[in-house]
Amino acid sequence: MTATPPFAAPNNVDQAELDKFSDLASRWWDPESEFKPLHAINPLRLNWIQQKVGSLSGKRIVDVGCGGGILSEGMAQVGASVTGIDLAEKSLKVARLHGLESGVQVEYQAISVEQLAHEQPGQFDVVTCMEMLEHVPDPAAIIRACGQLAKPQGWVFFSTLNRNPKSFLFAIIGAEYVLRLLPRGTHSYEHFIKPSELAASARAADLSVVDMAGIGYNPIIDTYKLSRDTSVNYLVATQRNA
Ligand code: SAH
Repeated sequence: MTATPPFAAPNNVDQAELDKFSDLASRWWDPESEFKPLHAINPLRLNWIQQKVGSLSGKRIVDVGCGGGILSEGMAQVGASVTGIDLAEKSLKVARLHGLESGVQVEYQAISVEQLAHEQPGQFDVVTCMEMLEHVPDPAAIIRACGQLAKPQGWVFFSTLNRNPKSFLFAIIGAEYVLRLLPRGTHSYEHFIKPSELAASARAADLSVVDMAGIGYNPIIDTYKLSRDTSVNYLVATQRNA
């Protein structure tokens, strides 16, 4: 048996997860759809990224697992040169169509992050990988590839869901069953990632963890805000070592 070269890594994909997003693809830009939470948190995460990086204008960015391009367009709108990658073709199609409509230019590509890291290592000022790690079989390999894409001292951002009784209660029972913010089965608890685990994978990928922030939801006023509480949904800012 010949060894699979590390850059090919086509197996780090859960087809059922991709299908789930493909089935919903037409609704990416409907702010009242299943993707409402992503629209709601988008300005918060975009601000946080800008606070860390400074101006995104002219920065070369790759948005990994970009879906319909909610964050990709946000970053392009403030002047970044953005490539969005995903493996769900339907979502990329919707993303491209939306770009035509909005006039916000993003280049979308159906390519795995491992393959792009092989083709364009060290080429990006900023890498974003949001709400995706909890949908793949081997998140550490995604984190490693994201690190490889960044320039020395380039920024790499992740967001995902923490794994503890509270996140089970809030992200699955609360969001999928009680408040019905997300379709049932959107998330599986065993794929949630503790900040310590994410940080360990980041360090192994030659990335230094610079900061973390929690994304909190208040169901009474239907509002999200960033906080120090990383117990449910959280953001991580890392920088590639020089
Ligand atoms: N990052 C976007 C979308 C999050 S939804 C945002 O935060 O707005 C998760 C996305 O990850 C979906 O678009 C899904 O198709 C994508 N995805 C899941 N597994 C993937 C993989 N192995 N490679 C690339 N994209 C993947």
